[in-house]
Amino acid sequence: TYLVTDACVKCKFMDCVEVCPVDCFYEGENFLVIAPDECIDCGVCEPECPVDAIVPDAEDEPDGKWLNINAKYAKAWPNI
Ligand code: SF4
Repeated sequence: TYLVTDACVKCKFMDCVEVCPVDCFYEGENFLVIAPDECIDCGVCEPECPVDAIVPDAEDEPDGKWLNINAKYAKAWPNI
């Protein structure tokens, strides 16, 4: 899966959302997340992000910080 990280805060440029073939982005007040169980790992969103906030899970923190955050908020926030 790909994950949204902290550079996204207050960016919400949304080009990543437009290109996602499975619509697995979810939106909070000032941050977007990807549902890890819906992402098909296509990678097309990564180069669309102007602030390099989207990373593959291989680049997550060792403790899985961003996987946990994306999974948690994808269940709480509306799909966009
Ligand atoms: Fe969507 Fe592909 Fe990005 Fe996953 S990697 S969030 S499926 S565009």
